[in-house]
Amino acid sequence: MIRIVSPLHMQSHALEMRRQGLKVGFVPTMGALHQGHMSLVKIARKLCDTVVVSVFVNPIQFGPKEDYSSYPRNQEGDMAICEAEGVDVFFAPTADEMYPRDYSVHVVEDRMSMGLCGAFRPGHFRGVLTVVAKLFNIVQPHVAVFGQKDAQQARLVKRMARDLNFPIEIAVAPTCREADGLAMSSRNAYLSEAERRVAPGLYAALKRVEEAFRRGERSAAILRKVALENLAEVREFRVEYLEIVDDETLESVETVSRPALVAAAVYLGRTRLIDNIVLEP
Ligand code: AMP
Repeated sequence: MIRIVSPLHMQSHALEMRRQGLKVGFVPTMGALHQGHMSLVKIARKLCDTVVVSVFVNPIQFGPKEDYSSYPRNQEGDMAICEAEGVDVFFAPTADEMYPRDYSVHVVEDRMSMGLCGAFRPGHFRGVLTVVAKLFNIVQPHVAVFGQKDAQQARLVKRMARDLNFPIEIAVAPTCREADGLAMSSRNAYLSEAERRVAPGLYAALKRVEEAFRRGERSAAILRKVALENLAEVREFRVEYLEIVDDETLESVETVSRPALVAAAVYLGRTRLIDNIVLEP
């Protein structure tokens, strides 16, 4: 595995790999890597000849009151995990090189980014899409893998690739969970022991929705009520949103007659957890 810091060096290395006829797979991350990230690497490995993992805590996708400065960082550990997984290139640029002082160009999506997390994190997806577009231009992948865990992000990246003609296949990997159902996340490291014990209640509530759906319930209002009642059972949760939307357009639905995304964000203490499931009629 080689480690590259400079975006220019990464780009010339990527172009060289492509010249050699290698199919390049790419997994962008913010580090503090866990098995969820590695499941994306495994998919990239299957689809491609060579795998690039980027680790970059992107300052412009964090709001002023969010956790940019406290976000877990552990580059040595991340490199060891990537090395063990057979990653070929570990790309870890600095914020100064990614965003020179007079940086002024951004990617804005103005429909699907408005709801769900976008409604509570203004500017978040502008930051995400901007850095993903930059990383795509730097890494020049044939395939990029994103996690279903961040469903809105994955849908937006697909939309960006389509609308801005990035010649990149976007693959979406299923959510990796702990044994008790909690979706793996770098932010789980923030949870106290007591919080960690109740955190699986988020996925448990989504599973109750799925059960109601399987029993034939199709009304989004009723399915949403099932979720909220179950979330309310965990007194420590503060629900930010729980929405049922069309899985492709992310527009809210009244009846589940096409695949629908049930997505939620809850606060547990100061930690924000997100999770989702897809209902397939
Ligand atoms: P992050 O480092 O949190 O920005 O995540 C980097 C990529 O890994 C994103 O595409 C995430 O959706 C994906 N990811 C994070 N957690 C998981 C998980 N538990 N299962 C699958 N993919 C994940």
